Amino acid sequence: MNSLQKLQAKMAEAGVPGVLVSDIVNVGWMTGFSGSSGVVLATPDAARFLTDSRYTIQAGEEISVMPSYSFASPMSQTDFVAQHAREMGIERLGFEAENLTYSSFETWRDAMPGIEFVPLKNFVSPLRMVKTDDEVAKIRHACGISDAAFAHVKRLIQPGVTELDIAIELDFFMRRQGAGVAFETIVVSGNRSARPHGRASDKKLEPGDFVTMDFGARYQGYHSDMTRTIVVGEATDRHREVYGQVLKAQLAALEMMRPGVRARDVDARAREVFDEIGLAKYFGHGLGHGLGRLVHDTGRLASSSDDVLEPGQVWTVEPGVYIEGFGGVRIEDDVVVTQDGIEILNHTPKDLLILP
Ligand code: ZN
Ligand code: ZN
Repeated sequence: MNSLQKLQAKMAEAGVPGVLVSDIVNVGWMTGFSGSSGVVLATPDAARFLTDSRYTIQAGEEISVMPSYSFASPMSQTDFVAQHAREMGIERLGFEAENLTYSSFETWRDAMPGIEFVPLKNFVSPLRMVKTDDEVAKIRHACGISDAAFAHVKRLIQPGVTELDIAIELDFFMRRQGAGVAFETIVVSGNRSARPHGRASDKKLEPGDFVTMDFGARYQGYHSDMTRTIVVGEATDRHREVYGQVLKAQLAALEMMRPGVRARDVDARAREVFDEIGLAKYFGHGLGHGLGRLVHDTGRLASSSDDVLEPGQVWTVEPGVYIEGFGGVRIEDDVVVTQDGIEILNHTPKDLLILP
């Protein structure tokens, strides 16, 4: 089933006669459109992509699953959509409650007298969780680019090089491979590595620093997201102990991932491993998140999550320990759930790396 068919099947099952898809991430997922403005109007057996004249040519090139229409000034988007909704015979129109602001909702509603607006919560986005083979292939490709970027940047790591030098080199490498940068690359070293999402700074690497690098590539609309932590110069017993436990937590979590397992149990497994040596209190974030058209996509491996693993879902698995005044370690891989387990999409080794 393609994305549109998945949505239409859900609409038929839930008795929703029409949906206005306004979240551009969902619009891109359903149509293949890579532009930044457009909506989809869908009924259980028809769909139209509606955009403005800036995107007429692009939509014609990119979209084949449904007809596309565009409007030009002085027509307004709301009047244009209203006209198509009437043509499609829509009388009740579901909208994405998480995406539409209250003022946009009022504008839409006022433009479409006679159409009843129905808020839909978590209706379209969760459909993105299970990927097609084609989507997984794009994420796998993005992971290959981040693996290559890490192999490349490893050679640069030595005392005196700044965090920014490394971040820029990672970004430059990924772009040169034909990818985009998935998010602002994180490179934090020494004490600064205790900041899970610290910004790369002009701090120079020093012997004895942990260096955490968290980065990803965007390829044809899909992302990778990987983290590696290394030690500069020489590793102490404490470095080895903390790093070893983070790796152990990640391996234990990966080990139990298969269809039917609850996301919260995978998260709990990592915490259990940290608890063995009193590190659980330094692991403040969730174990992982869904990955796809967004870096932080639908789905959480966390204690509060109700998600259950299913074949085709793609997750990050990223335990971390952050000790103020000492440093932090995070190891992050991307995995796809298979029929009987997982496939790890990154191939960069995870044994403690001491550079140069
Ligand atoms: Zn990451
Ligand atoms: Zn992540």
